Parts: sequence; C-alpha cells; structure tokens
Amino acid sequence: MTTLTLFAIALVALAVGLFLTRIIPALQTYFMYRGKRLITCPETLVKEAVDVAAGRAATRIFIGESDLRLDQCSRWPERRDCGQECLSQIEADPENCLLWNVVSNWYEGQDCVYCHRRFGRLHHLDHAPALVGPDHKTIEWKRVRPERLPELFSTCKPVCWSCHIAETFRRERPELVVDRKR
Ligand SMILES: [Zn+2]
Repeated sequence: MTTLTLFAIALVALAVGLFLTRIIPALQTYFMYRGKRLITCPETLVKEAVDVAAGRAATRIFIGESDLRLDQCSRWPERRDCGQECLSQIEADPENCLLWNVVSNWYEGQDCVYCHRRFGRLHHLDHAPALVGPDHKTIEWKRVRPERLPELFSTCKPVCWSCHIAETFRRERPELVVDRKR
C-alpha cells in the first residue's frame, strides 16, 4: 500500500469521524424537539400550542451553533413578533411539555366512563381515544385544538375509541339503536 493510499484512507476516516460527531448531536436535537408542545405563554399565562423549528435547530447544531426558534404557535400570526420566551420552558423539560406525553399521562390509569376499561400508555398506531363533556358529546382528542386540551381535561371524562364510536352512532342514528336489557 503506497503512502498516498494510506494518506487517502486516513483523510476519509477523519472526514467520516468528523461527520459522525456532528450528525449524531444534530439528529438527537431533531428528535428531541420535533412534535407539538403545550407551553404556558409568559405574556398571557394561558396554555398555547407550539412547534419548535426542529429541522432548523438540527442544522444549526450540525454547523456548530445552537439556536432554538419556534416554527408555529397558536397565537400566531397575531403575535408572530413575540420574543418566544416560552422556549425556556421547552429547553428546561422538552419531554414533559410534548403534547403526546401530556395526553398520554392524562389517560393513563383512568377508566373509560362507559365501559370502565382502564387506559394504559397511548400508542401511535392505536385508535385515538376520546373525551366526553357535560353536553354528553364525545370527541376524539385529536380533533380538539391542542391548546384547548388542558382546559377540557379538567371538565371532561375519558372515553375509549370503541365507546366513542358507539356513542356517536347512538347520538346520530338513535332510530337504529335498540338497547337490550341484560
Ligand atoms: Zn369504553
């Protein structure tokens, strides 16, 4: 093997090593910050739904910089020029404010108000469970605006997907439903 070949191999190894030391933290940043989150707006002290610009944050990490910005907020476009101070809440605890975790934590351990089946952790491939409020109308949690969920969680009860489908049918087509006595 010539000195030139060895030099080329060393150069490639160095480049790959350098790439890996940058790409791994960039990917970790992307997966850490992607997804909808619920924060308390420092201006109004009301819960709002935001998305971090995860791709941008990952690209910045790749080039050796750190710059977290929002990509979306439920108060935009009216407050698009805000200082994005809520980012400190996300940086302090990115997992806890992730919408999916907030929803999953609320359902876990509770029982469906109709069939009394206990909820475990939510899984992305499962049908989304629902909520039922004082008006007795069930609605899938994914159909509610995310920033409204914390308020609904204090006034609504959890409903499993099967009971949600049955109750929706019962509400929309009552003439087709016959309740049999046990
Ligand atoms: Zn149920």
